[in-house]
Amino acid sequence: MSRFWSEAVRGLTPYVPGEQPRITGLIKLNTNECPYAPSLRVLQAVRDAAGEDLRLYPDPECTQLRQAIAEHHGLQPEQVFVGNGSDEVLAHAFMALFRQQHPLLLPDISYSFYPVYARLFGIATRSVALDEQLRLRVQDLLDAGPNGGIVFANPNAPTGIALPLHDIESLLQGNRDSAVLVDEAYVDFGAQSAVELIQRHPQLLVVRTLSKAHALAGLRVGYALGQAELIEGLVRVKDSFNSYPLDRLALAGATAAMQDDTWLAHTRSRIIASREQLSESLRELGFDVLPSAANFVFARHPARDAAELAAALREQRILVRHFRKPERISAFLRISIGTEAQCEALVSALRGILQVPASALGE
Ligand SMILES: *Cc1c(COP(=O)(O)O)cnc(C)c1O
Repeated sequence: MSRFWSEAVRGLTPYVPGEQPRITGLIKLNTNECPYAPSLRVLQAVRDAAGEDLRLYPDPECTQLRQAIAEHHGLQPEQVFVGNGSDEVLAHAFMALFRQQHPLLLPDISYSFYPVYARLFGIATRSVALDEQLRLRVQDLLDAGPNGGIVFANPNAPTGIALPLHDIESLLQGNRDSAVLVDEAYVDFGAQSAVELIQRHPQLLVVRTLSKAHALAGLRVGYALGQAELIEGLVRVKDSFNSYPLDRLALAGATAAMQDDTWLAHTRSRIIASREQLSESLRELGFDVLPSAANFVFARHPARDAAELAAALREQRILVRHFRKPERISAFLRISIGTEAQCEALVSALRGILQVPASALGE
């Protein structure tokens, strides 16, 4: 704390990202990165972009990338906003859309960056509790009173549970006077996208990232989709903050990624298959595993303390994520889907920790 800090900075509670330790041989299942290398076409495009043009500023409008994203989704480039990771896109969207008279609604258990942005931008929030099964109920959002916007992730994080498209549509029909932001960071792993609702609902903003399904967390590219007028609001914020959030390497790599549907389909199905296999193995070990539509599972053991399990796994160089807060989810571990071999290593480590003899599992 320095006496030169502004009042606003004193009041901040920053987001705490999952650990990124520099330990070799670690099985890293704590931050939902993709365990596989990105598409070779992406790597080649980044290499090709690493030339003398780096002396020049990149295209501030990210024209080619927005074109590629628009084509991928069957939209127009004016309906696409891009940013330095979807975290930045979210920040600009909060500033552009949610600084309203009424509070922003958000689920009590969701991506923990949302309340951080709300605080940064002075946005009041009202949290809406997930039900007993940790499901989001649209009616509860509609019953929560006047709002200045609604934000949630679909599938939700860290539960992995997806909201069906017809629920999102009912929400939009019942909430026409404030913006609704659907964060689809994990949608490629099995949820229904709300993108098709954009043409009929001017209040809908869908946010995506290349960090998870495209294996590009290190490139920092995210985007938002919505009607052109909504998107223009985000552009105004961006051009009041940083005109060049995406560098030339990121633009080239992300454009190539959006054009490689084959790689995406292949990787996605591989991760989904591992997720189903891992969920089954965890259930055999006695875990309750929530039905996941994401690249992670959220699981609790009825007889074991989650923090202790996470610490025991860490001793075996396996990292998973445990959230102490909110209390309601402190018994759970969030485990990212690794390669087949990493998932097997996790299951075998857990078997040892739980001291379940392999023979008792029918092997
Ligand atoms: C990972 C994640 C993001 C952030 O993605 P970046 O594009 O890497 O900034 C946004 N929302 C949710 C729900 C996430 O899990």
